[in-house]
Amino acid sequence: MSLVIKLLGLQELEFEIKALEKALADASSRLGESPVLKEARSSLERCEQNYQQLSDQQKSLEWRIEDLNSKLKKVNEQLYSGRIKNPKELSNLQHEAELLSANLAAVEEEALEVIEKAEQAGAKALQAKQYLSRIEASWQVEQKKLVEEIKINKDKLADLQEKRKTEAGDIDADALRVYERLKLQRGFAVARITQGACEGCHISLSSAQLQHSRSSTLEKCANCGRILFCE
Ligand SMILES: [Zn+2]
Repeated sequence: MSLVIKLLGLQELEFEIKALEKALADASSRLGESPVLKEARSSLERCEQNYQQLSDQQKSLEWRIEDLNSKLKKVNEQLYSGRIKNPKELSNLQHEAELLSANLAAVEEEALEVIEKAEQAGAKALQAKQYLSRIEASWQVEQKKLVEEIKINKDKLADLQEKRKTEAGDIDADALRVYERLKLQRGFAVARITQGACEGCHISLSSAQLQHSRSSTLEKCANCGRILFCE
């Protein structure tokens, strides 16, 4: 195998390693709770808090209704017991009963509104809970897949790195130094020739360069300095 083919093979292997490292980093960044899941969770929390608040409000209104009812019952009992004869006292009781009835009607109206709101909030909280369950289920499936993908890619990466080490060890040390230096300077060291031009800088090559690139020695692009590879 010619030196330039070995270097090209090494470069392709390094590209593959880079792509795999990027895929691994991407996959790792997707591990953990997603923003959608976090939002669904806090939305459920808000819905449940709202429902709880309205339920508490409903309960306290129901207690007030109970309390007002029992007070009204007592006043009415006194009023219609026949025991009270004093007109002033009767009139006071009558007035108290009216006040209690008016108060009761107002509280009952308020309670009806709160009950309706609480029902709506309860339905909304249930919806949010079901939505979260669905999101969580698909998130768990995705996380499982990610963990598997990461494991597979880590193994693959280790294999490729091992292979790179072996291939690099099989290349002449001086050529490898040239390759590494070019890689640092130019991003990649070996450039294919496509339609008579260097693929690294896209400048057309002279016929002498084209001819030299087919020989077994390393020919560099006169413009960018990359090692030329002719198919
Ligand atoms: Zn070039």
